[in-house]
Amino acid sequence: MAKTHNPLSGFFRTPKIYTKLPSLGRYYTDDVIDLPDTGELAVYPMTAKDEVILKNPDALLNGEAVAQVIMSCVPSVKNPRKMISNDVEALLVAIQGASRGDNVEVSGKCPECGEVCTSTASVETALETMSILEETYSFKTDSGLEIALRPFTYESTVKAGVANFQSTRSLQSISSITDEMEQLKAFNDSFVRIAQMNFDLVVDSVASVTGTNNGEEFTVYDRAQIKEFLENCETSIGRKIEEQIENINKIGVNKKIQLECDKHGPFEQDIGFDPVNFFTAS
Ligand SMILES: [Zn+2]
Repeated sequence: MAKTHNPLSGFFRTPKIYTKLPSLGRYYTDDVIDLPDTGELAVYPMTAKDEVILKNPDALLNGEAVAQVIMSCVPSVKNPRKMISNDVEALLVAIQGASRGDNVEVSGKCPECGEVCTSTASVETALETMSILEETYSFKTDSGLEIALRPFTYESTVKAGVANFQSTRSLQSISSITDEMEQLKAFNDSFVRIAQMNFDLVVDSVASVTGTNNGEEFTVYDRAQIKEFLENCETSIGRKIEEQIENINKIGVNKKIQLECDKHGPFEQDIGFDPVNFFTAS
């Protein structure tokens, strides 16, 4: 049955912002993002339903709220969980701008005197000045292996967030355990879980390992083989990977602004571009 044309359809929301991504969409197949030829994604303001989704604490924690709102406001995105975190952050900033306007008021306390200073950040400017991810990231180990890294997916970031949340919770419950041995054991369990989570993230961020064996070059993509290698290699390699990941995570929209204290001059402050806080605060 053909749907009757709704005379109100001309009054539906329209895109308010077009934005590129820190990855330029380079890492994706069509089932993740259907990238327009211009490389810029249309961003619509949130609907009333989107606003409600973002007020659900469980959905926020497990990433479902952000995933749903991105699919609603950026129709080119098909699978937000498979996107790189840097791109998800940029889209959330764009959605904020499309929904609430370009200006974001930022205030912070001067670290010297505690005086509250305010300024205004622009969403458009933040998007225009974003830094761009390289096509590949790699480094050579002392033993001659080349390790290629890839940025975190949103899915991994959510997993890490949940693990952090759980460990904070279990640390809270540990303090209520009266038996000292029991307490020590619970503390140890929690520590092991977090270490395991961090290790999984490191494994996840290694795209491939290339080297030569008897003059023959090989490249390993197999997840299980990469995992086994990381379990058995020198710790300096793990540290180097973590260092590089930290730098990769910083790429994208600049989330700092300079505020100015009358007496003590400029200082840096985070712009409230946090997906969980900036929508729920209002
Ligand atoms: Zn001051």
